[in-house]
Amino acid sequence: MTKQYDVITLFPEMFDAIADSGVTRRALDEKVWALTCWNPRDFATDKYRTIDDRPFGGGPGMVMKAEPLNAAIDAAIQRQQDLQLAHFTNKPKVVHLTPQARPITDAGIRQLVEEPGLVFLCGRYEGIDERLIEARVDLEISIGDYVLSGGELAAMVLIDAMVRLLPGVLNTPESAIEDSFSPARDGYLDHPHYTRPEVWNGATVPTELMSGNHAGIAKWRRKLVLERTLKRRPDLLDSAGLSKEDLKLLNEIHQKQK
Ligand code: SAM
Repeated sequence: MTKQYDVITLFPEMFDAIADSGVTRRALDEKVWALTCWNPRDFATDKYRTIDDRPFGGGPGMVMKAEPLNAAIDAAIQRQQDLQLAHFTNKPKVVHLTPQARPITDAGIRQLVEEPGLVFLCGRYEGIDERLIEARVDLEISIGDYVLSGGELAAMVLIDAMVRLLPGVLNTPESAIEDSFSPARDGYLDHPHYTRPEVWNGATVPTELMSGNHAGIAKWRRKLVLERTLKRRPDLLDSAGLSKEDLKLLNEIHQKQK
């Protein structure tokens, strides 16, 4: 079933970046997902098509007005409900992109991609009138503890991360399974990768990968998964979840470091 992603944005043309290139473009062409952008300016009722105003209480910048966003959200939800597909009987969730939420993780992306449709609300300027957020938003998501100029890049990050998990999107589905953070990797980091030539810049490929011994390669890769995770993201290592074999490999890594 085609995933339906509607986006409320002042800059619909930014979404060409995912609609026109790479994996997301191919999946869009194959109707794995569908994208509809709504410009709040088209829902403004005054002749200047005003979508922002000065903040009450003073201060710098402008705030996005509630009315045009409210009407744009209604249109997006209506579009998805008009599809009249069995799984669209529930309203799609409205997702507000904001730096003030908890940064999303791989687990969050895997949960989000289960939704048949979503409506993304992209803020600009100082943000959105709080009353609109309270009245219409189901979910708030950040892509990291830093501030972007707008929610568009954040929405594209989420869409890209979700679409590549959908069946049939990646040429080699194992890639998504074996990527960093995936449950099949126990949430750990991916191992390093090498390709031809065998010697580049004086550096050779690890001999284990050239052996043709599949069990040996798998063992070497698992060791590198553990070593990298331990070194770069020790917070991801869940010692309770480690197998006997993993503990043995970790022991070898510790011995090597001594
Ligand atoms: N005044 C806001 C604050 O400090 O929380 C920041 C406004 S920011 C300049 C404009 C818009 O960019 C926000 O309304 C939000 O939609 C989006 N945005 C900025 N950083 C983000 C992040 N880390 N994750 C998701 N969206 C973000």
